[in-house]
Amino acid sequence: MSDHIRRLLNSGKVYHMNFEYSGEEIELAIIETIKANEVTECYIRPIAYYGYGKMGVNPLPNKVSLGIALWHWDEYLSQSPGEQGVKAIISSWVKIDTRSLPVLAKSTANYANSALARIEAIKSGVEEAILLNHNGMVAEGTAENVFIVSNNTLMTPPVTAGALDGITRSAILEIAKNNGIEFRICDISREQLYVADEVFLSGTAAEIKAVTEIDRIRISDGRMGNVTLKLQTAYRDIVHGRNKIYGRWLTYIK
Ligand code: PMP
Repeated sequence: MSDHIRRLLNSGKVYHMNFEYSGEEIELAIIETIKANEVTECYIRPIAYYGYGKMGVNPLPNKVSLGIALWHWDEYLSQSPGEQGVKAIISSWVKIDTRSLPVLAKSTANYANSALARIEAIKSGVEEAILLNHNGMVAEGTAENVFIVSNNTLMTPPVTAGALDGITRSAILEIAKNNGIEFRICDISREQLYVADEVFLSGTAAEIKAVTEIDRIRISDGRMGNVTLKLQTAYRDIVHGRNKIYGRWLTYIK
């Protein structure tokens, strides 16, 4: 079962959802949807929801339905090699806390928080926002995990800081390990972002994107750094099937 489907099932588990389909069946349904739509490149979003039935706050009597949507998606967050990266702000909205909503579950409810932060960023004239948690430490972007490079060490906050257990994040950590890039999973403060040698965001849609300005403070020389470039290139090679070592990460559609 792919990591994405496992996360979907685990997210449902937190919300007491009983799925009618196994992970393998959901995976097959996704493949069929792609084939039926004859797309060669798309973003895929399976979404489980307590469907029709009793009105009210208690969803338990209602059947769990599953929809699969896919669509063409342009580059998510601007930035290409050598160019200036994404400009971001630290959001004034605090990342939702796991005592209020389970952050581990990739629930649509969590995205109200992300949307507010993203709107704030756009209204401030930049593209993206980074959210801090209730302890003032970096949690994540609105739909991406955050990484920094300081003194040749790659760092990303732990999931307990309010970060989603990102699949791209795990992939990056594995690539780093296999390439001798030292890494640490540790709390990161706001000011550590400002003074980092490199900052980048990771996500299925965003892939790996350098951040070169935060709160109007330029990160390093304002250009994508070497570690980011190295990881971005490695990741792109893998997702485009150019590196067989990571072949198990890919699902081929025949
Ligand atoms: N955090 C949030 C809030 C997200 O929505 C996403 C995108 N799914 C991520 C992080 C990155 O996760 P992934 O690499 O699994 O796409």
